[in-house]
Amino acid sequence: MFIDSHAHLEGNRYDTDRDEVLARAKQSGIEAYLAIGNGEGPDTADCGIKLAERYDGKPEYPRIWASVGIHPHEASLANEATDSQMMQWARHPKVIAWGEIGLDYFYDHSPREIQKTVFVRQMELAKAAKLPVVIHCRPSGNSESAWDDCLALIAEHWSSTGLGGILHCFTGSVEHAQRALDLGFMISFAGNITFPKAQPIRDAAQMVPLDRMLIETDSPYLAPIPHRGQRNEPAFVREVARQIGELRNLSAEETGSRTAQNFYNLFGLEPETANREARA
Ligand SMILES: [Zn+2]
Ligand SMILES: [Zn+2]
Repeated sequence: MFIDSHAHLEGNRYDTDRDEVLARAKQSGIEAYLAIGNGEGPDTADCGIKLAERYDGKPEYPRIWASVGIHPHEASLANEATDSQMMQWARHPKVIAWGEIGLDYFYDHSPREIQKTVFVRQMELAKAAKLPVVIHCRPSGNSESAWDDCLALIAEHWSSTGLGGILHCFTGSVEHAQRALDLGFMISFAGNITFPKAQPIRDAAQMVPLDRMLIETDSPYLAPIPHRGQRNEPAFVREVARQIGELRNLSAEETGSRTAQNFYNLFGLEPETANREARA
C-alpha cells in the first residue's frame, strides 16, 4: 500500500481522464492521497474538498483527504475575506491539513515581504483550526535565504503548537532536513529524487529516519523517471518508494507501507485496511 501525500488533480490537464487516473492509482496500490487545496488562488482553494466529495469512499478510487491554504505564489491575493473563507472551508470534515503554504523565492510571483506576512498569518489560522501544515519552500538559484527564512518563521510561529506538519517536495540539503526534523516535521520526497542530478536529495533520504518520511508525486509536476517530462499522476508514487527503498535496503512495498503509516500517524487517521474490513 502507498499514500501519495501531495497532489493537485483539479487542473484541466486531468479533465478528460480524471476518473481513469484515480482508478489507475487504486489498481496500482495507492490507497489514499492528499488533495492539496490551493486551486488557482484563494477563490478556488476548495478544489481539494470538491475532489474528496466526488471520489472519496468509492471502492474503485483511493481515499481522498483535502487541505486548504494560500500558496506563496498567490500570497498577494490574501486578505481578511479570504482568511475567513479559508477558516470556513477548514471545518469541512475532509480537511486534515493547512497548505501548501510557505515561501517561493524561485518565481517570486508575490513580493517576498508579502509572502512572509501571509505565511505567518496562515500558520496562525492553521493553529486556530488545529490542523498540521504543508510547507512549500523553494529557494532562488544559488541562495539559501528561502530555507533560512522559512525555517526561522516555522521555529518562531509554529513549532510550539505541537501540531507538526510536512515539508513537501524536499529539495534541500541534509542540514536543512535535520533542521526540519528538529522542528517536528515529516519530510516528504517527490519524483525529483529519481533524477540523476538529485544526489543531495538522495543523501537526505538516507539520513531522515524511516518514521519521519512521506512520499508524494506533486502531480501534475515532477514525474519520476521513467515518466520524466510527462504529466504526473498518483500511481507514479511507486517510483519514489522504489528509489527510497534502494537507498534504505527496503522493497518499494515496505517503503510504501512505512510511509503510509507515518501519514496516518501524523493526521490521526485509521488505515485503509480497517475501513475495508468495516465495509466488508
Ligand atoms: Zn509546492
Ligand atoms: Zn504542490
